[in-house]
Amino acid sequence: MASHARVDVAVVGGGVAGLWTLALAVRRGLSAVLFERSALGDGQTIASQGILHAGVKYALPGEAAREARALGAAARVWEACLAGDGEIDLRNVRTLSTCTHLWTAPEVGARLAARGAAALFRSSVRRLGRDELPGAFADSPEGVEVYEAEERVIEPSGLMHALAEFCEGRLCRVDESRLEPEAPDSWACVVRFGQEEVRVQAASVVLAAGEGNAVLLNGVHGGKEFMQRRPLHQVMIDAAPVPVFGHCVGLSGVPRLTVTSAMSRGRTVWYLGGGVAESGLELSTDEQIERARGEVASCLPWLEFSAARWATLRIDRAEGRVVGRKRPESFIVRRFGNVSAVWPTKLALAPLVAAEVAQSWGEPRSDADIHAVKNRPMPEVSRPPWEREGIEWR
Ligand SMILES: Cc1cc2nc3c(=O)[nH]c(=O)nc-3n(C[C@H](O)[C@H](O)[C@H](O)COP(=O)(O)OP(=O)(O)OC[C@H]3O[C@@H](n4cnc5c(N)ncnc54)[C@H](O)[C@@H]3O)c2cc1C
Repeated sequence: MASHARVDVAVVGGGVAGLWTLALAVRRGLSAVLFERSALGDGQTIASQGILHAGVKYALPGEAAREARALGAAARVWEACLAGDGEIDLRNVRTLSTCTHLWTAPEVGARLAARGAAALFRSSVRRLGRDELPGAFADSPEGVEVYEAEERVIEPSGLMHALAEFCEGRLCRVDESRLEPEAPDSWACVVRFGQEEVRVQAASVVLAAGEGNAVLLNGVHGGKEFMQRRPLHQVMIDAAPVPVFGHCVGLSGVPRLTVTSAMSRGRTVWYLGGGVAESGLELSTDEQIERARGEVASCLPWLEFSAARWATLRIDRAEGRVVGRKRPESFIVRRFGNVSAVWPTKLALAPLVAAEVAQSWGEPRSDADIHAVKNRPMPEVSRPPWEREGIEWR
């Protein structure tokens, strides 16, 4: 027979959405616990580029104002938390760069695209003069225009560590989790530790398992799909020449390259997303690396990559489903009785997801009992993609 626990909030999934939601519950004095089946951030969060978008990338033609407003609201929460003035203390999270750069490949058309972006976001994008160029652009030819955007880049693993620390004692590594009906429109979260099962009754069950939400929701609304995936084929470059944070702007609404950088084993690693990752899905690893080499050579021809080693990472974005399977303009929360299934769409929007879910929370329950889930093994924080075992660098 399963043992029982009673809590105000049970969260399934320890990525940014789950951890932020848990932290908010802890902050509000609720009895709350999170269940993670592998490592914290193991899905998309650790694989993200850590950019707290302020709208710039999406200022390119045809994007929605709703998204820019949501990102602006979320950015204010992040700034407060990172400064230690918000509901959650994130002062220990490393900012890798306080801004990003938008630049044009040495082609006239792309230059026009960047001018358009700068015109749209006059307040947050500033064109840099030649004497202001950051190190990576110091040797760029005259034709390359560089803009500075107010977009912070944080270290996702540092974020996971800070949130985990904030939520200490509430995190459990489980072997399995599922939902079971409790009463009409009410579900319990059943978790398994080895052979032992615990049935957790919660006033609010939050499914924040990224792509894992699809299976968990089978227990709620079998058959109907509430999630969509957008696959990416990211590229990693070990021993890149200098750190870069930003977007190379082309003519389409998607940047040709989005580059973020990290230090790993004393070397600079580049992590490439943007157009190259979105459109390289059909390519093999070698073909994708070849294509990325070409894009890097075309977007940053003044940099030297002879010492670099290249690898790729396939990963899906998990999002709440929208009509036409388009990219959602903001986060998505689906409610089914006491269950909220959440997809932040972006790391940057996690604070808004948590705030939305928190709206349904009441006062702390007086009969809370967490004995059955207390002192369980804690999940570790996942490693960045470029530090994982088994990567075949070329
Ligand atoms: C390559 C890439 C780059 C990105 N770059 C950015 C960026 O620069 N800026 C930005 O704002 N956004 C970015 N995003 C989007 C952002 O990463 C995601 O929106 C966000 O991290 C999703 O967080 P999440 O907590 O919902 O899910 P996830 O991070 O996927 O976390 C889900 C967690 O649930 C766990 N889990 C799954 N199933 C179960 C289960 N049954 N039981 C228990 N636990 C379970 C998983 O192990 C995982 O730890 C990027 C995404 C990708 C893929």
